[in-house]
Amino acid sequence: MFNVQDIRKDFPILSRKVNGKSLVYFDNAATSQTPQQVIDAIIDYYANYNANIHRGVHTLSQEATDLYEQARQKIQAHFNAKFSHEIILTSGTTDSINLVANGFSSLLKKGDEIIVSALEHHSNIVPWQMLCERTGASLKVIPMNEEGELVITDFDNLLSKNTKLVFVNHISNALGTINPIKYIIDKAHQVGAAVLIDGAQACPHIKPDVQALDVDFYVASAHKMCGPTGVGMLYGKEDWLNKLPPYQGGGEMIAEVTFEKTTYADLPHKFEAGTPNIAGGIVFGAAIDYMNRIGFDAIAAYENDLLNYATEKLLAIDGLKIYGTSKNKTSVISFNLEDIHPYDVGTILDKLGIAVRTGHHCAQPIMDFYCIPGTVRASFSFYNTKEEIDTLVEGVKKAKMMLS
Ligand code: PMP
Repeated sequence: MFNVQDIRKDFPILSRKVNGKSLVYFDNAATSQTPQQVIDAIIDYYANYNANIHRGVHTLSQEATDLYEQARQKIQAHFNAKFSHEIILTSGTTDSINLVANGFSSLLKKGDEIIVSALEHHSNIVPWQMLCERTGASLKVIPMNEEGELVITDFDNLLSKNTKLVFVNHISNALGTINPIKYIIDKAHQVGAAVLIDGAQACPHIKPDVQALDVDFYVASAHKMCGPTGVGMLYGKEDWLNKLPPYQGGGEMIAEVTFEKTTYADLPHKFEAGTPNIAGGIVFGAAIDYMNRIGFDAIAAYENDLLNYATEKLLAIDGLKIYGTSKNKTSVISFNLEDIHPYDVGTILDKLGIAVRTGHHCAQPIMDFYCIPGTVRASFSFYNTKEEIDTLVEGVKKAKMMLS
């Protein structure tokens, strides 16, 4: 049974004060907070198992290796991948995307086309621009509309036999829009293109099924899912991961090395050069366990309630405009107060102990679309409450009074 007050007890940081006020943490889309169970898993690893993995005969190394590989299996089960070797542990979403972009350098040529969307985070734009520079391929963009949704008929028109790759985020970090990824995947496959879905913002709210989606690549970061920073995942279909060349060279990713020739290890190790973030990988598994114990259906229902409550209360403030008004969205509200700079609003809210994000949210093309420098973004998680939203609303009113 979902009980937010019980859940809040799991998060020590939620009881701290900021600027003399109780912390109200609404920057969840940037990084989620960490429950005690996950903090305990970090301590347990360093207190009891710390050793390098995959190469030791001694007991600690074997135990750490087992825990690391068990975490990979948990991630496999969570995303419903067919094989655990289709899960590559990376340093995060950005790293996962760059791994794939790098791999496609040898598979693309001039005349090939890559499609991205107008709603992307910079980490799902820049690596593809760099890939285009390396290969001569060109980048096409699915446009967005005023509601912050993709204009999907334009996507249909962009597809052609030249389309080799399509990259779209599952959920926009700046606006919260949930994109129609199943439609995009199926359409892209009809012209033989591969699809990478950036799930960084989706995974804190929903549980994706990569086999049901039939997606080629899916990426996420642990730190947005109650896990630690510096670790994330890349799911890739086995055939694709076998086709892509290694990303980085080094220890762990080889089968045999001589000065004449090196052969590479099998999946997943081919893409995991060097000592990985061992504690991070293991604790990513603990974070997934934690979220699954709460349950993604309960999380989605509760957060949706928070979203509706906050939307109504904020819209009642004269001069407040919300960007991203799709009916299909998660618990992110991007807004501006008249023509007051978002940074000024954020600074006053911080003085009141309220953490929001201000700026372009690494999605400058979205801000350009709306002709604004940025927004104030309040993003809610399952451990937030309606009382905290009331505090935000009062804070925004105060900011308006002081800055108008
Ligand atoms: N894509 C999206 C949609 C994101 O929201 C983020 C994080 N803000 C990223 C990619 C990058 O994630 P990371 O910084 O963890 O690599």
